[in-house]
Amino acid sequence: MTRAYNFNAGPAAIPLEVLQQAQAEFIDYDGAGMALMEMSHRSATYEKVNQEAQDLLRELMNIPDNYKILFLQGGASTQFAMIPMNFLSEGKVGAYVDTGAWAGKAIKEAKTVGEAVIAASSKEDSYMRVPQASEIVVPENAAYVHVTSNETIGGVQYKAFPELGNVPLIADMSSDILSRPVDVSKFGLIYAGAQKNLGPSGVTVVIVREDLIAESPKSIPTMLRYDTHAKANSLYNTPPSFAVYMVGLVLKWIKAKGGLAEVERYNLNKTKLIYDVIDESNGFYEGCANKEDRSPMNITFRIQGKNEELEKKFVKESEAAGFVGLKGHRDVGGLRASTYNAVPLESCEALAKFMKEFQARNA
Ligand code: PMP
Repeated sequence: MTRAYNFNAGPAAIPLEVLQQAQAEFIDYDGAGMALMEMSHRSATYEKVNQEAQDLLRELMNIPDNYKILFLQGGASTQFAMIPMNFLSEGKVGAYVDTGAWAGKAIKEAKTVGEAVIAASSKEDSYMRVPQASEIVVPENAAYVHVTSNETIGGVQYKAFPELGNVPLIADMSSDILSRPVDVSKFGLIYAGAQKNLGPSGVTVVIVREDLIAESPKSIPTMLRYDTHAKANSLYNTPPSFAVYMVGLVLKWIKAKGGLAEVERYNLNKTKLIYDVIDESNGFYEGCANKEDRSPMNITFRIQGKNEELEKKFVKESEAAGFVGLKGHRDVGGLRASTYNAVPLESCEALAKFMKEFQARNA
């Protein structure tokens, strides 16, 4: 079997070893005579899957004991609503850093629930950079400050997170969780849909400081309260059991790779190959993000002053050469290579080579 050079933005590449292990135990899980997804979520077997995935995530991200790990449904998009619902008590506002498309969606959704203000924005710079701490204005009645650690569409990333005093920092890490070590104790809440670095779609990971979820407003529906899921160890209702199991396998794979520092090193080597081609192309390729903020997860670029004809040709020829997912997001156009943890170095080497050859043919 030939594996495609998969640069999809999400759902995205899953490590081959993980897929193979899932395949090997797909029909008969742990000698039970049934697949994991056929089992009760109240069984000891699933409880172990649920607990092991939490424990491994805690170990790999060095998550302190006073944080809960939740496996929820509804994607990161549901977190856009759950966060303000749970944290915007009377008189409080959510402060949002506007870094592009995903931050924008979080802000829009928060406004359906309560008051959301923009604490800083890089809109005037076409979202080519992320606002720094000195630009962020936090209102006195802010319940939290929300940042998007990696903008999947724009291709910018916070390399270091703003330090904002006592206001809890909330981060959407959907597209860069587990790609590098982060100091979880600096955050009130971290959330991420699984379908990029964690496994398949269907489960959303939330890491939240316990004291922040002690008292959700009573008016919130049961399923949308963090305390519901925290008290029930993510087993309040039927969980996405197969997705949680897959996340557990991905976490084991990361541990076997040597943990997050090693994963980060590998990722930076991978993306350097592609960013180098962009930087050394004499302007044939143009990176969309400022160098200091560019993402090691989503490499966004254009060809020769946004030459859409050439970009179309690039996508077409890349597909014929075995590459998948290089077309930019429909909202911004251009090109994008998503190089999540599971994208192997070999795929990036092949892409760098293809890009050089494409330039030589078309410059
Ligand atoms: N935030 C970011 C940064 C994303 O990249 C995405 C999905 N691409 C989302 C939120 C929305 O995630 P979901 O589709 O899981 O709701």
